[in-house]
Amino acid sequence: MIGIIGAMKVEIEELETYMEQKEEKTIGSVRFVKGLLDGREIVAAVCGIGKVAASICAQTMIMAYAPDCIINTGVAGSLSEKAGICDTVIADTLVQHDMDITPLGDPPGMIEGLGIVDIPADEKVASVLKEAALQAAPGKVITGKIASGDQFVASSEKKDFIVNTFNAIACEMEGAAIAQTCYSAGVPFGVLRAISDNADGSAHLSYAEFLPEAASAACKTIVGFVKKYSK
Ligand code: SAH
Repeated sequence: MIGIIGAMKVEIEELETYMEQKEEKTIGSVRFVKGLLDGREIVAAVCGIGKVAASICAQTMIMAYAPDCIINTGVAGSLSEKAGICDTVIADTLVQHDMDITPLGDPPGMIEGLGIVDIPADEKVASVLKEAALQAAPGKVITGKIASGDQFVASSEKKDFIVNTFNAIACEMEGAAIAQTCYSAGVPFGVLRAISDNADGSAHLSYAEFLPEAASAACKTIVGFVKKYSK
């Protein structure tokens, strides 16, 4: 079984239209939908915005469904000229840009429980995501580090901090939390995001304009991934 998590309804609802034999179940605050997509068993959920909501959803999905892997799909802000609007970014590693224990000597982003800053995505999952994106996604496909934090990044100052500190190519608010949850539980995971904005002063306008198109682009890759992936 493949687990698919999106932060917002718009990032999951199209996927649900392709599912058959759907069975819904609400656990705590999260609605899970299990079903078949192209004959493959998947379970999808909308986790809500931010790292805590994402971790609650991922951990609950792991305990309730024991998925072979979890994919976080959705939209993101671009931190690199290489990633333009509606291009697809696939994580090779993820970092929590707002994890900061530097006053006690830790490097920025250090997750003390894991003893690492950069959380490595599962290589096989990332490679199949890339293959699926190259075939299904409308724009370019870029692999790199995705930075997550509990902030909608919409200023060049914040953007520059994340790029200069972590060398990330995209930013969002859930991926690295799902990564930490899965990494801790030993569940293979991947994160793919379609770019909705450039995380700068006009991000709020671009996000509003391109959210639907970017969410749909990400969904096309997910459908392709489900058809290709085998554990
Ligand atoms: N109420 C708004 C909240 C969106 S927050 C809504 O429902 O549309 C932005 C969401 O898109 C988060 O899930 C985040 O992962 C992603 N995202 C897109 N661009 C982002 C950016 N520039 N900075 C941080 N997150 C971004």
